[in-house]
Amino acid sequence: MLTIGCHLSSSKGFLAMGREAVSIGANTFQFFTRNPRGSRAKPINEEDIRKYLQFAKENGIEKILAHAPYTMNICSGDEKTREFAGMTLADDLRRMEYLPGNCYNFHPGSHVGQGMEQGIKIIADTLNEILKPEQQTTVLLETMAGKGTEVGSRFEELAAIREQVNLKEKVGVCLDTCHVYDAGYDIVDHLDQVLEEFDQTVGLSHLKAIHINDSKNPFASHKDRHEKIGQGSIGLEAFLRIVHHPSLQQLPFYLETPNELPGYAEEIRVLKY
Ligand code: FE
Ligand code: FE
Ligand code: ZN
Repeated sequence: MLTIGCHLSSSKGFLAMGREAVSIGANTFQFFTRNPRGSRAKPINEEDIRKYLQFAKENGIEKILAHAPYTMNICSGDEKTREFAGMTLADDLRRMEYLPGNCYNFHPGSHVGQGMEQGIKIIADTLNEILKPEQQTTVLLETMAGKGTEVGSRFEELAAIREQVNLKEKVGVCLDTCHVYDAGYDIVDHLDQVLEEFDQTVGLSHLKAIHINDSKNPFASHKDRHEKIGQGSIGLEAFLRIVHHPSLQQLPFYLETPNELPGYAEEIRVLKY
């Protein structure tokens, strides 16, 4: 059975997200750990988490995916921005331990003129300071579209980050279909070759989640504008091949398309069958 869900608003807590997920035919969901623009996180509500875990068990929600604020840039050239990002990452991972065994996805960041190699080194150094052997969360590096000086639009860059991290088993990758297509990986006409390339660089066993988004822009445009499934340059056929691909079937899929709940429900219905 497919593990599929969408991004949900975390403002009403985990139990509310669990209920929302089930109401649209999802068996997982993604949520922001805090305001996506990176402000302070709400205090942990242990009662809500306890009720959520019970609800999840009863309703077959197995794993969920946290997403860091997208402004968090741990390889920024500015020391204050970098320190703030590191504090956010560490705090989010502390909070994730209340929901053990899940994944935490973040954008590797932008090196803003320091160079790709330096950006990769700062990201790995920061992870080496923050990751703990006892943590029960897997941190995921998201594949990026390659806007500006973004790190992570090439599989080699993600592999290089993992390479320099000591606790490698705590670090995986989340593949975003809109981002990789925008970055120049042709998942429409050459899905098998792209997965083969991923396997040779990062290793398919380190792929832990997939963001399924169509793209508003043509192949290799380096733009990152999500479109509804089937209404962009990737197209429905390609998504059906992706979610039912034998090498990907065991992974959780998350929609981040421009939709409200009914739109997500429809996309989940179409992709499930
Ligand atoms: Fe993202
Ligand atoms: Fe994404
Ligand atoms: Zn995106």
